[in-house]
Amino acid sequence: MAVIFVPAEVSRLDNIDPKEIKVVEIQMPYAFEVDGRVYPIADEMRPGTAFLAEPFGARTQKLQKRLYTRSNCALTENRILQTIINDTHDPKADTSIWWQTDEVRVGDKINVRAEFNGDGTTLIVYEHRIKDENKSLKLEPDDWWLDKKFLGIGFSTGVTPVFAHVRYLAALNFGRTRKHPGAHYVLIVSVKNPRQLMSHEEWLEIEKKYPENFRYHPVLTREWPEDWPYTRGRIVKAEKGVDGQEKINMDPLFGVVADIEERHVRMCGNETAELQLRTGFEQTRNPASFKAEVW
Ligand SMILES: Cc1cc2nc3c(=O)[nH]c(=O)nc-3n(C[C@H](O)[C@H](O)[C@H](O)COP(=O)(O)OP(=O)(O)OC[C@H]3O[C@@H](n4cnc5c(N)ncnc54)[C@H](O)[C@@H]3O)c2cc1C
Repeated sequence: MAVIFVPAEVSRLDNIDPKEIKVVEIQMPYAFEVDGRVYPIADEMRPGTAFLAEPFGARTQKLQKRLYTRSNCALTENRILQTIINDTHDPKADTSIWWQTDEVRVGDKINVRAEFNGDGTTLIVYEHRIKDENKSLKLEPDDWWLDKKFLGIGFSTGVTPVFAHVRYLAALNFGRTRKHPGAHYVLIVSVKNPRQLMSHEEWLEIEKKYPENFRYHPVLTREWPEDWPYTRGRIVKAEKGVDGQEKINMDPLFGVVADIEERHVRMCGNETAELQLRTGFEQTRNPASFKAEVW
């Protein structure tokens, strides 16, 4: 059967940092017709996974297929696919340039991939599958994370999967009951300047509501207000040791997260950030587990 793409409506465009970073929401319709029959559309995307859309390429001047990790969760915002898109500034950048232009408007239609569920009665939003589990930030089953400690680190738009994790966990009260303390999540986001902070107030509110289950630590790498109470500069730094060998300085990170050995680290960003973090853990202290997604 041919791959199914459903026209979905752009329902929100928010310029976080004009021409650089945009929050995008795409609303899936309730139903879609395939071969003369109308099927309901269900949204069961697991937090930390990506959907496939068909944006326009500014360089190639044609529609392209691109994956975007969802930053909200199906539990609270069903069929509203939120993601955060940046201009990559790569010489071959294509759709990422178009997203930052005024050519894309609220109300426009963007195709999003769907597929049939097991018995062929319903269409579900296609969820991209990453085979290597260590490179996938798809949140583990609910009975797994209930008693776990996490550290989610998102660099720039790499915040998308960790945002989805926290929103999902918060919707389930972090698994907290009268008898059970539930999961604990430290969210570190690293962006260049205060303008690039995303959903900042929401994280502060969740922190206030769940002080025993959630901590938020926004890092500003290039520009910060004088009274910035969090990390200024990189959270891990590559430095030359006395022997001339490159060493990763993990002190800023360990200053924020003292119990790294107990934490399941989930990181999303570019290759350099991933390599530095991986090397840094190997050179110092290892977390309980480490999964990283690089685009
Ligand atoms: C699983 C998955 C999830 C993703 N989620 C998101 C998301 O939530 N938000 C988002 O903005 N993007 C995300 N991406 C990347 C996105 O799919 C596009 O590749 C990206 O927006 C660039 O699109 P493009 O059409 O401009 O360039 P492409 O044609 O995709 O790439 C052109 C060139 O740019 C390079 N490139 C791609 N991405 C980057 C980058 N970030 N920095 C530097 N060079 C790059 C490619 O290697 C290639 O050489 C995801 C990718 C994958 C695989």
